[in-house]
Amino acid sequence: MMMGMDDTIDFFLEVSQILDDNDVETDKEFPEKYTRAMNRLRYERDKSCGVPVKKLKKRYRSGYFERCGNCGSECIDGKPHYHYCPNCGYAVKWRD
Ligand SMILES: [Zn+2]
Repeated sequence: MMMGMDDTIDFFLEVSQILDDNDVETDKEFPEKYTRAMNRLRYERDKSCGVPVKKLKKRYRSGYFERCGNCGSECIDGKPHYHYCPNCGYAVKWRD
């Protein structure tokens, strides 16, 4: 069994609350490391959850240019079979 990313993040927030509430002693690098670990989790969540494709109206022809919603890369233009941006690795959502 594996819990989802949102639940994992909530769980670790709860853990930090428990450490605080019980005045658990941690070494002085712990808060910094904790923040970095949480940043990693949030990054992985955003990456796997994906970003909608950005559509830019073509000026002189009909249709749209498609860009990665995260990094703006053109790599995905006209390639709806790409599920991940080759440039930044984020999941790409073609609808919604
Ligand atoms: Zn990208």
